Amino acid sequence: MNSRMYEIDCAHCQSKWMVKAETIVNATIEYSLKQSILDESFFKRKCKNCGNTIYFYYSFLYCDTKNKVLVALKIKEDSKWIEQLKMNSHYKDFELYEIEDGVQLKELILVSDYNLDYNRILECKKKLQHQYTNMYVDAVDECYVWMVCNETFFGIEIRHVNKNYTNV
Ligand SMILES: [Zn+2]
Repeated sequence: MNSRMYEIDCAHCQSKWMVKAETIVNATIEYSLKQSILDESFFKRKCKNCGNTIYFYYSFLYCDTKNKVLVALKIKEDSKWIEQLKMNSHYKDFELYEIEDGVQLKELILVSDYNLDYNRILECKKKLQHQYTNMYVDAVDECYVWMVCNETFFGIEIRHVNKNYTNV
């Protein structure tokens, strides 16, 4: 676990304050942090002055050593650390996803936990909606992968997006 201090400012009342935030989460040992990403509390902060809810996204690495998956959340032009990550021999057999949207992090965690085929998920999004960039995997159960877009849910049969799925 690594962390650093960030300044947060509230868009509602303009107050600023410092917070400590985790920059790496190791899913295999930091289970409660992983859960907080999945329940969407991880990036959420409350303004100490006015109580306004702020979604605070910053450059962040999610590391799943069991499934050998890395998800790098890249905010702004800050990509040097991702290049270093790619050259790090410790992660050479990991699958690396680079994302620029914090909501996608939850999606990729579910995709790797349930051994889903991410390219197939992307295909499904395209079929379901033209503005599919707003659609995310929100939950997975025994039969369905649930995608959400503007508070509307779409269920896709899990067997269609399973890594072992074949058309025949
Ligand atoms: Zn505020």
